[in-house]
Amino acid sequence: MLVQVAKDSDFTIHNLPWGIFSVPGESPRVGMAIGDQILDMVAVAELELFDFDVSVFYEDKLNPFIALGKSVTNKARTQVQGWLKSKDSPLAGKPELFVPQAEATMHLPISIGDYTDFYSSIEHATNVGRMFRDPENALLPNWRHLPVGYHGRSSSIIESGVPIRRPKGQTKPPTSDTPIYGPSKRLDFELEMGFVIGKDSELGQQVSTDEAEDYIFGLALFNDWSARDIQKWEYVPLGPFLGKSFASSLAPWIVTLEALEPFRTAGPAQDPAVLPYLASRGPANYNIQLEVGITPKNGTEQVVSRSNFGYMYWSMRQQLAHHTVNGCNVRVGDLMASGTISGKDESSYGSMLEISKGGKQPFPMNDGSTRSFLDDGDTVTMRGWGEAGDIRVGFGEVSAEILPASPE
Ligand code: CA
Repeated sequence: MLVQVAKDSDFTIHNLPWGIFSVPGESPRVGMAIGDQILDMVAVAELELFDFDVSVFYEDKLNPFIALGKSVTNKARTQVQGWLKSKDSPLAGKPELFVPQAEATMHLPISIGDYTDFYSSIEHATNVGRMFRDPENALLPNWRHLPVGYHGRSSSIIESGVPIRRPKGQTKPPTSDTPIYGPSKRLDFELEMGFVIGKDSELGQQVSTDEAEDYIFGLALFNDWSARDIQKWEYVPLGPFLGKSFASSLAPWIVTLEALEPFRTAGPAQDPAVLPYLASRGPANYNIQLEVGITPKNGTEQVVSRSNFGYMYWSMRQQLAHHTVNGCNVRVGDLMASGTISGKDESSYGSMLEISKGGKQPFPMNDGSTRSFLDDGDTVTMRGWGEAGDIRVGFGEVSAEILPASPE
């Protein structure tokens, strides 16, 4: 190996995720994470080792690279993997190809066209349905028949590390007959996984569950911030709007779908059976462990949730097949998010709404304070990784601090 990689590193030789980085005085460009280093793909491009147009590595977003297609991008990743493993490789003896991650700034890795948010964890949908609607009929009649989703804003998807300003808006407290205006009092995170579309489909074309994985370039951690009080008042009848659109945070590293192959697993059994266009063969989920930590201002981090991407009721294949069943086309750089990923038990809930039971059971923090929802000054950090035998592939983290609402 040309780079020493710690055993517990997210960025092992099995991973090699893609991102956009910069160092002081240089423009953002494509890089690949290995251990605690970034392989500068512009520097690699200048070695003239690739047989495709390497100008894509000089871009400040991954879209042009992704648009080359999996036959090119997977081959490039596999080639680099081979070179990193070999002392006789063209990358050997060239420390200038590597940049320590600690010295680099990471940027939003893709230019996001459209953003779709699903609602595909049965545990999350059940928990929220109990609180927002009817405890006896928590899941609406459509939920087990189709992956429910809505079209979100891409303009407010920001890179990890950018602070989030507490949103303001209209809410109607239960004690009031009329709505009030002000900062959200129920600011929340949503633990999600996003997937990036790697291939255009045509208007009118359906992408089948068999074809879907060919359209998925890779995955990244995603925190879909939510203002529960704004959401609760506004969401009927057309669904989420301003309680969601103020910000979502995307992790800097896109882990390729191919790197996740060792973690492929079957999702939960679907009952009733799905319509034929949603049926899919073989395991379609991924066993990715997830965790969420909250760090109070000047405090230490406390993990508030441990969940798993493998819990999803609806797979990415099914989400994409459903998304395109009406002929809606998808484009390179579109982002699809899983929806909040909750598990069965209370330690695996993917939002404060569920962890605190809608605010009724505040979560005890190590410093003696409690959290029903997020406080100003809190930093929320999400991590994810798969482990199979000696193989570890991680997603790094997505993290952001909550700033107070802007003055009136
Ligand atoms: Ca969401």
